[in-house]
Amino acid sequence: MEKSTSRQSRKKVVAVVGGGLVGALNACFFAKRGFDVELFESREDIRRAKIVKGRSINLALSHRGRQALKHVGLEEKIVAKGIPMHARMIHSLNGKQSPIPYGRKGQYILSVDRANLNKELLTAAETYPNTKMNFDHKLQDWNAETGLMTFARLDGSKEQVKTDLIVGCDGAFSAVRKQFLRRSRFDYSQTYIPHGYMELTMLPINGEFAMKPNYLHIWPRNTFMMIALPNLDKTFTCTLFMPFEDFEKITTGDEVIEFFQKYFPDTIPLIGADTLQRDYFRLPAQAMVSVKCNPYHIGDACVLMGDAAHAVVPFYGQGMNAGFEDCIVFDEIMDQFNEDFSAVLPEYTRVRVPDDHAIADLAMYNYIEMRAHVNSKWFLFRKYVDNI
Ligand code: FAD
Repeated sequence: MEKSTSRQSRKKVVAVVGGGLVGALNACFFAKRGFDVELFESREDIRRAKIVKGRSINLALSHRGRQALKHVGLEEKIVAKGIPMHARMIHSLNGKQSPIPYGRKGQYILSVDRANLNKELLTAAETYPNTKMNFDHKLQDWNAETGLMTFARLDGSKEQVKTDLIVGCDGAFSAVRKQFLRRSRFDYSQTYIPHGYMELTMLPINGEFAMKPNYLHIWPRNTFMMIALPNLDKTFTCTLFMPFEDFEKITTGDEVIEFFQKYFPDTIPLIGADTLQRDYFRLPAQAMVSVKCNPYHIGDACVLMGDAAHAVVPFYGQGMNAGFEDCIVFDEIMDQFNEDFSAVLPEYTRVRVPDDHAIADLAMYNYIEMRAHVNSKWFLFRKYVDNI
C-alpha cells in the first residue's frame, strides 16, 4: 500500500524516523513550527509495552540537553523527575570516598530515567494535533531519488510512504543512513571499542539509597571502571565498563565475587553477593560504537540527527545531550533560512558536523587515554574524574 502524506496543506509533511530520545524531541520541534509530522518507530509504543528494551537505564542530562527541552516547554517536567548529581564520588580501592564537584556551588547534572524521558517526549509530541505517531513501523529502505520509504510491520505487511522531508533519528545503526552510504562523497567511519558495558542494580537498603544519592559514583580501576547513577525508586544503576576479553574470563558465580572482591570490594555488601552473581550473567556485555559521517543531509530531502549522525562512546556522557542540541541548532537555522529546506540542510551540515565530530573525538580521546596510561594511576584518576 502506498500513501502519500504530502498533503495539500500550507505546511509541508515531515517524517521523523525513530521515536527514541532525539526523534521524539525532534517531532515536538517540527510540530511546534506547524509542520505535519509523521513519526515512525520500529518498536511498539513503549508507553504500553511491558518490557522496554533500550540502552542504558538512566543517563546524565546536562545543560545542552536541558536547553533543548526548554525550547519545547519540557525542561521543568523532566528536571522534576531527575536526581541532581552535584559531584562525582570517587571510590578508592581501600573504600575511601572523595567528592569532586562538577562546578561551582549549586551546579549539577541530573540523573534521568531513559524510559521515562522517552515516554514523556512521545506524549509531548502527541499533544500536537499536527503529529501522527506510527509505531510498529520499521524503515526497511527508502529511495533517495523519489523519497519513497518502505516500512515493515510486525504482521508482515509493508507500507510505502512519501513525505517532503525525512529526518533520520533512528540511532547508531540507522536505516536512513544506509542510502547515504550508496552515494559518492559521503564520508563514513565506524569504530567498535574493545570495551563492553554491563548494568547491575544496587537495591535500596532498609528503604533508603544504599549510597549517597546526589553523586555520580565512580570506581576508577585502570582498564576497568564502574559508575553508578541514582534512580527515583532509590536504586542505583551501576555500569561496569571493561574489555570484552575480561568479561569473558569470568564464567562462574564464584569468579564474579572474586573479581568484585579484588576491584570493587565496597560494592559487594551494597549490591549483595547473590544479586551480583545472578545479575552478572543476566545479559551479555553490550558493545559500544563510535560513528562519524559527513554530510548529514541529502539535497533538500533528508537529514540525520542524534546517534544516526554521530554515535559517540559514552565516556563524556554527551551522546543524548549532543543529539538534543542538534534539534536546537537545526531549529535556529530554520529561522535563519525561513524554513527553506534547500538552504537549511546544507547549512546544518556545515555548522553541526565539526561540533559533533569534536564531541566524538573528545569521547574517544578520553577512552584511548584511559587505556594508554594504564600504569599511571594518578593520571588515570584525573582523566576519569575530569570528564565524567
Ligand atoms: P536511540 O536512542 O538509539 O533511538 C533510536 C530510535 O530509533 C529507537 O527508538 C529505535 O527503536 C528506532 N529505530 C531504529 N531503527 C529503526 C528503523 N529502521 N525504523 C524505525 N525506527 C527505528 N548520553 C548522554 O547524553 N548522557 C549519558 O549519560 C549517556 N549515557 C550513556 C550510557 C551508555 C551505556 C550508552 C550506550 C549511551 C549513553 N548515552 C548517554 C548516549 C545516548 O544513549 C544516545 O546518544 C541516545 O540514546 C541517542 O538518541 P537517539 O534518539 O539518537 O537514538
